Amino acid sequence: MTGNPAIIRNVEALRRHTADWRKAGLAYAVVPTMGAIHEGHQELVRQGRQHASRVIATVFVNPKQFAAHEDLAKYPRDEPGDVAKLGAAGADVVFMPAPEEVYPQGFSTTVSLTGPAKAGLEDRFRPHFFAGVATVVAKLFLQTGADVAMFGEKDYQQLMVVTRMVRDLDIPIRVIGVPTVREADGLAKSSRNVYLSAAERRQALAIYASLSRAADAIRAGQTPQGAARAAARSLTASGFKVDYVAARNAGTLAPPRGKDEPLRLLAAAWAGKTRLIDNIAVQSSR
Ligand code: AMP
Repeated sequence: MTGNPAIIRNVEALRRHTADWRKAGLAYAVVPTMGAIHEGHQELVRQGRQHASRVIATVFVNPKQFAAHEDLAKYPRDEPGDVAKLGAAGADVVFMPAPEEVYPQGFSTTVSLTGPAKAGLEDRFRPHFFAGVATVVAKLFLQTGADVAMFGEKDYQQLMVVTRMVRDLDIPIRVIGVPTVREADGLAKSSRNVYLSAAERRQALAIYASLSRAADAIRAGQTPQGAARAAARSLTASGFKVDYVAARNAGTLAPPRGKDEPLRLLAAAWAGKTRLIDNIAVQSSR
């Protein structure tokens, strides 16, 4: 079904809606987003429909995952556009709570994380980010009671953090990672791409290109650390301010130790005032 999704703004109404689905024996998926919906989010909704009979997309720009200096106030918002795009992709419900609904007066509880959340990647540059993400995601899982949750590999560390949290807290939901949706030239689709000037947009290609070269180099026998360092140098040469390029264990995000572990290459870099992140798998050569 693709059409007009129901717009729900409070948890009570959401629970009434999902109770009907439960009674009818329907499994449902949740797709958490911050809005500014693009093809990447729409793919999560479509994949959600492959794994469940109904899909709830959530749109909430979570103040707790932005630091004071970050772009909370100017984060792109377009409610009618978001609802139309989520509906077109097949969402049955768009849950759009107000901040007061999510964080009532006196809110005092936060999910505390180690492991992949402290891998020294995003967490090094955004120290409060994953606690904010995990807290709101745990709430969304409890509010929706969904059977499956769709997350993009685009935010790979986030996917690992949420997967770990669900396991550690026995939250009865299956977390499914969806491969990154890219522009034709390889740039990962992102709500933040609208901030890029024409020149920065051209420059931005270098991220995926340099990660792909590094993955090839590792497959050809270069050390993961050496390949990551070369990718960082090439990004700097393309005009980026590099936060990190790293090769990590694909599951734990710990630095690689042996020869035969699955690896992920992850990068974050600034094109002008816009911070871009991307990552790719390094398939083993065997
Ligand atoms: P956001 O609202 O951008 O924070 O992202 C909401 C969800 O969409 C997260 O699970 C992201 O990983 C996912 N997502 C964002 N961009 C993409 C993309 N290009 N491809 C696949 N998933 C994405």
